[in-house]
Amino acid sequence: MHPLMKHVHRLSVQIGPRGSGTPREAEAADWLVQRFKAMGYQASVNTFRTVGSFSYVQMFFFGGILAAFGLSFVHPLLGVLLALPLLVLYVLDVETRFSIAPYFAKRASQNIRAWREDDATSHIRITGDEERLDSIVIMAHYDSSRAALNFHPKMVKGFRSSFFLVFASLAAITFFLVLRSIPALAPWETPLTWASVPFAAYLVIVLLMLAHRELFCQYTPGANDNASGVAVMLGVAARLAKHPLPGLNVEFVATGAEEAGTFGCLDYIKQYGLEGKTFINLDNLGQGQLFAAEAEGIVRRYPADSDLLSQIQQVAQAKPALPIAIRPYRLLTTDATPILVRGGRAVSIMACAEDGSLPNWHWITDTSSHVEPQNLKLAEELVYRILQERGRVFHDTEATG
Ligand SMILES: [Zn+2]
Repeated sequence: MHPLMKHVHRLSVQIGPRGSGTPREAEAADWLVQRFKAMGYQASVNTFRTVGSFSYVQMFFFGGILAAFGLSFVHPLLGVLLALPLLVLYVLDVETRFSIAPYFAKRASQNIRAWREDDATSHIRITGDEERLDSIVIMAHYDSSRAALNFHPKMVKGFRSSFFLVFASLAAITFFLVLRSIPALAPWETPLTWASVPFAAYLVIVLLMLAHRELFCQYTPGANDNASGVAVMLGVAARLAKHPLPGLNVEFVATGAEEAGTFGCLDYIKQYGLEGKTFINLDNLGQGQLFAAEAEGIVRRYPADSDLLSQIQQVAQAKPALPIAIRPYRLLTTDATPILVRGGRAVSIMACAEDGSLPNWHWITDTSSHVEPQNLKLAEELVYRILQERGRVFHDTEATG
């Protein structure tokens, strides 16, 4: 078995499904610490609180807006007073700017950071318009998601449309509540109420699906999402341990609880900040066309770091060329999303099917037999060559400066 596939096997078969904040996620964390230490890295564990999945937070918003619709029969203004703040909080949550999730967070999860002692003090100085320190953070989440009906192979293609239908329903119910609370529109009360009913009915269905998810669905083995990303991260770490790139300050971060709402990445940002760092996020690399995400975000479009993207393009075209596409990724958040939302520098490297979907995404078929060793090798080569390229920039500026 290829060494990178051994890591995928270890995480997705031997340890198995690693839900956010579960004992198996913690077991994977222990294994990662051992792996990094065996390669000669310093490693530390940062713990934080998380929820077990994002369902509860969504149920809070959808249930809350439905309750507002119910309250409006007591008094229309009461409905508005509940629905409006909920809608604003929901948008902030989708954008990873503010989340109510920490109030539900009862479980413990952890990030693993690894670095080499002799790298810790060396930074690349990039001279140009401004002089800044540069260190590279290679990130990959090691938890796995709970499956859900909306990720069923027959439904997952419509994931983005159903996301917007939910968003439209929340907004429409709130909008009709506002209209009903305006005294001048009192004659329209009945038709405005009826207009809300289809949207409310749709939210009830979504709520039932979320309840079904929590009651009956299992955590996936997470071979592609994201043992594949972790395996590539370990592969790059092993190569750097054997062939260090002078002057490069590289840090590896294996994040926990990404699937529950990027809790690991958000905790990293809180602890260490984004200043002077460029992030390469590895996620879902095991099957399909490798690509660098030029932008991400399911609602607003957040462009990835343009410097890093053009380096990826250069590296991909240099001989021997690597088959890496550059395309947007507009599904659920990755660990790079909260970084981009906060003005940080990041690019996600991923792989997708021809139609842009992620193979076996959040489904029980996300097993190691669906991970292509060739994809992992290519991704490892790409990341290593990006690091080489940044090391070269260092030597150039050293020589001229
Ligand atoms: Zn993932």
